[in-house]
Amino acid sequence: MPLFPTTIAGSLPKPAWLAEPNKLWAPWRLAGAELEDAKRDATLLALKLQEDCGIDVVTDGEQSRQHFVHGFLEFVDGIDFARKVEIGIRADRYKAMVPTVTSALRLKGRVHGREAQLARAHTTRKLKFTLPGPMTIVDTIADTHYGDRVMMAMAFADLLNAEARALAADGVDVVQFDEPAFNVYMREVPDWGIAALHRAIEGLTCASAVHICYGYGIKANIDWKATLGGEWRQYEAIFPALAKSRIDQVSVECRNSHVPMSLLKLLDGKDVQVGVIDVATDEVETPEQVAAVIAEAAKYVAKDKIIAGTNCGMAPMRSDIALAKLAALGKGAELARKKFG
Ligand code: ZN
Repeated sequence: MPLFPTTIAGSLPKPAWLAEPNKLWAPWRLAGAELEDAKRDATLLALKLQEDCGIDVVTDGEQSRQHFVHGFLEFVDGIDFARKVEIGIRADRYKAMVPTVTSALRLKGRVHGREAQLARAHTTRKLKFTLPGPMTIVDTIADTHYGDRVMMAMAFADLLNAEARALAADGVDVVQFDEPAFNVYMREVPDWGIAALHRAIEGLTCASAVHICYGYGIKANIDWKATLGGEWRQYEAIFPALAKSRIDQVSVECRNSHVPMSLLKLLDGKDVQVGVIDVATDEVETPEQVAAVIAEAAKYVAKDKIIAGTNCGMAPMRSDIALAKLAALGKGAELARKKFG
């Protein structure tokens, strides 16, 4: 691996023939076997585009799932999808209609086996796979069975663990858990959020990562961010606990972020996926801007611990802009290697 290897948070926009573009939760355009074929083709395309842009640790672009949480839940028994209730998620930042856990949770089978094996067969690059984190899942679902968030999180962690181990057996190099809830429940993260992640990575033979973030560039998030003040210091409360954890990598947004970069020092010892691409704006970064964020991060994180990434998923972006941003990521990391390597 080169210095400052590149990766993306996880998702890429889907082609217009697979799902309606520029939209979260976009409905599929096809059904049945046609849909499965289209997901396969979109996954191959996502791999090819990442490779061409110089991305070192590629993903399947999350082309086979409609949403990063519900893509997993679809494969879990014990959830009643017909029983939808409206709850305030992320400490009531937005309302969402969510399904309900009504009995003991069990996996129906493999969740991402098909796309992981497909991706592994078609790229020689390092492969990363994303799963929703236990705390974020329990924040995005209603419950009439467990009656206790922690107990339910641990039950989900066991299911995630089974899938994560299977992904490692498929040849995946990094399993990443997406935990946007980690900047909402700062007290719960050291209390049980990290314990749930530890349960999810138990016995995992590949690297593990956690992606924490202030969310996609959608309106509810942009409005919420406007209330957080000039400096976002939420991570000060959770980074020390993450530094002590057994998770190998932490993915953090840094480009155009109000998170003070000096907080990265608190992640001492971890590999840090430094977000150098802002997904909340259509303005495409220049390689110089990307290299500048890497240089700033290098003041607080050892150079060989820096992975250059995107602030968050790119699923809701225009695909031409996402592609231009991928190219900027690859070129920017290359420039950083030349300048500071
Ligand atoms: Zn994110």
